[in-house]
Amino acid sequence: MNGEWRDTATGRHAANVNPAKTDDVLGELPLSSAEEAAEAIAAAKVAQPGWADTPAPERGRLIARVQRLMAERAEDLARALTREEGKILREARGEVQKTLNILEFVAGEGLRLSGDTMPSEIGHTFAYTVREPIGVVGAITPWNFPVAIPCWKIAPALVAGNAVVFKPASLTPQTAEMVVSMFAEAGLPPGLLNLVYGSGSEVGSAIVEDPRVRALSFTGSNDVGVALYASAASRGKKVQCEMGGKNPILVLEDADLGMAVEATAQGAFGSTGQRCTATSRAVLVDSIADEFVERLAEKARALVVGDGLDESVDMGPSVDEAQFETVLEFIGAGREDGAELVTGGEPLTGESHRRGYFVAPTIFDRVERKSRIAQEEIFGPVLSVIRVGDFEEGLDACNDTRYGLTSSIYTQDASRIFRFVRGIETGITHVNSPTMGGEAQLPFGGTKATGVGMRELGKTAIDFYSEWKTVYIDYTGRKREAHFY
Ligand code: NAP
Repeated sequence: MNGEWRDTATGRHAANVNPAKTDDVLGELPLSSAEEAAEAIAAAKVAQPGWADTPAPERGRLIARVQRLMAERAEDLARALTREEGKILREARGEVQKTLNILEFVAGEGLRLSGDTMPSEIGHTFAYTVREPIGVVGAITPWNFPVAIPCWKIAPALVAGNAVVFKPASLTPQTAEMVVSMFAEAGLPPGLLNLVYGSGSEVGSAIVEDPRVRALSFTGSNDVGVALYASAASRGKKVQCEMGGKNPILVLEDADLGMAVEATAQGAFGSTGQRCTATSRAVLVDSIADEFVERLAEKARALVVGDGLDESVDMGPSVDEAQFETVLEFIGAGREDGAELVTGGEPLTGESHRRGYFVAPTIFDRVERKSRIAQEEIFGPVLSVIRVGDFEEGLDACNDTRYGLTSSIYTQDASRIFRFVRGIETGITHVNSPTMGGEAQLPFGGTKATGVGMRELGKTAIDFYSEWKTVYIDYTGRKREAHFY
């Protein structure tokens, strides 16, 4: 806060625990108060005007320095991420690499903060637009991408000339500290990036409700996001919320089954299903469904589940006990609703799993479209297979959800590819590739219950973190004739 590390005055702390080995305690999470959040906001408010006066290319160069520092520490950051969040090392390295790409792209935005010049209706008038910072921005982030998501909010917010108050998820405080340290070491002046740990209900709400915070970027669950959106919007703030997903993969009879099975396994079980872009529904046409499910189940059974720091492991634990219980509850709901359990469905309790939150990769077949496991985000390694008669029924099943983040189709048929791209109600879609992924230079986000507000990443990120000012300069040098525009 304001360029200094300090402990909370509340005296309250919570243990930060490795989800693969719960006796491995990484540190203590300070549980700050609403008053401490207000102090951070005050520091940001004081620091921001000086930063807004710093040339945008210079602000971009700061991000480039953060990028270089992170590249040097990539392996340490990836290991800390695995130990804190549980994803396997390969995925943690992938997340760090993705963050490096984002920082590289955003650094260049400092040279591209352009507006437009437009002809005016009025003679001898020069009309143009400029981007201006918003002021103090709040960033509230989830635990599942604790390096990439904070950076894809903080970096464009800073390049656009704002100051940031950052509240990370309580489950991933150490990676948040590592990220913020790099901004400080890169030379960011005090007060421009303030990290406040603490509960969502106390620190998060304090950031949302404070009138000095003019914009809020939230990523997390739908329940929290829509309440936050209502609260922030009623205070006249600019808000963007990226929330849950229930992403489908549609596999048609002419698909390359090997590729489609591999993509589904990666999408459903990669990151233990704890991705907003995870594949949680496989929508299969009847003619290939039996073979597809058999091949997929074989892959699921072969996955090595364990501590992600072990390079031979394919899938890590659920992030904490609550998430672990949620996954088991959904598995129970699948059974109760009459879905056919193909594989998994159990917590893993062997010697190497006993100290962590491990669930076996799970597949349910013949899932009813309206059942809970077909409709609700599980955020665990559980895939629902929905069988359909043809493409039209498949597209309809894919859209039969309140969420709209991402989707995928596997087919060779150009006409159905284009009809799918046109008809699918998601913010991102893939053709013959898995549902996951997002690149620095392209907009990221969803429709329906997944997303409200402007998209993150790409050029659109700067649109969220800046305001337009429209300027008219009359150079006639005499009194203006009345006009009615
Ligand atoms: P979450 O429980 O909604 O929490 C997200 C953040 O909001 C955390 O920092 C949390 O703090 C904070 N928070 C909780 N209650 C709050 C309140 N009343 N006011 C203000 N802030 C509050 O979500 P999560 O479990 O961390 O993350 C998983 C969810 O994120 C999934 O639904 C996933 O799909 C979604 N997600 C979406 C995207 C996307 O781009 N669409 C990307 C990644 C993840 P605490 O940690 O202290 O509770």
